[in-house]
Amino acid sequence: KKFHNYRISEDILKALNGLGYDIPTEVQAKVIPSALEKNDLIVKAQTGSGKTAAYAIPICELIEWLENKPQALILTPTRELAVQVKEDFINIGRFKRINAAAIYGRHQFSVEKAELKQKTHVVVGTPGRVMDHIKRGTLTLNKINCFVIDEADRMLDMGFIEQVEAIMKELPKERMTMLFSATMPDEVKSISSNFMRNPINIDV
Ligand code: AMP
Repeated sequence: KKFHNYRISEDILKALNGLGYDIPTEVQAKVIPSALEKNDLIVKAQTGSGKTAAYAIPICELIEWLENKPQALILTPTRELAVQVKEDFINIGRFKRINAAAIYGRHQFSVEKAELKQKTHVVVGTPGRVMDHIKRGTLTLNKINCFVIDEADRMLDMGFIEQVEAIMKELPKERMTMLFSATMPDEVKSISSNFMRNPINIDV
């Protein structure tokens, strides 16, 4: 199957074509149709599998451009990954004019605050900095309907799981949640049982 076999609009397909993405990777083929149905997903996938686009494509498709408040929140364990994921959203959402912001530790808070004041569809960030913005009232969560935890096992290794859970408690209940992890230790599985609705397991 190719990308145009999915329910993906022309502006996203055009961006994928420009990126040279022709055939979905295995994780994309499994995740995209299910995410477009707004299912909660637990995905075991390695870096390099195309996992970022696996969630970025359906999220870009589901975003309502006119909404001014953030609709998707992506948590990553590192700032390098946050910046990379933001770039991927900008690239995939280019022709839909999707705006994404990255917020992460040791980045100037005032710069991020100004960015978050602009129309931002997607916010990508590390847990500590995301929590800072929530506490200071600079990140609005009431329109978030897509939530992704990327590299959940690394979040665990870096001691971020409690912050991830604290953030999840602040999010609207009506939302889709996707968790991506290269390995599935019990602590990662327990997040899913506590904070997801009938999640579907995808193993690549
Ligand atoms: P990731 O696993 O998200 O880090 O992606 C690994 C690499 O694969 C990145 O450089 C992507 O740009 C690239 N990529 C993702 N999806 C596709 C695709 N369907 N076709 C070709 N390259 C892809």
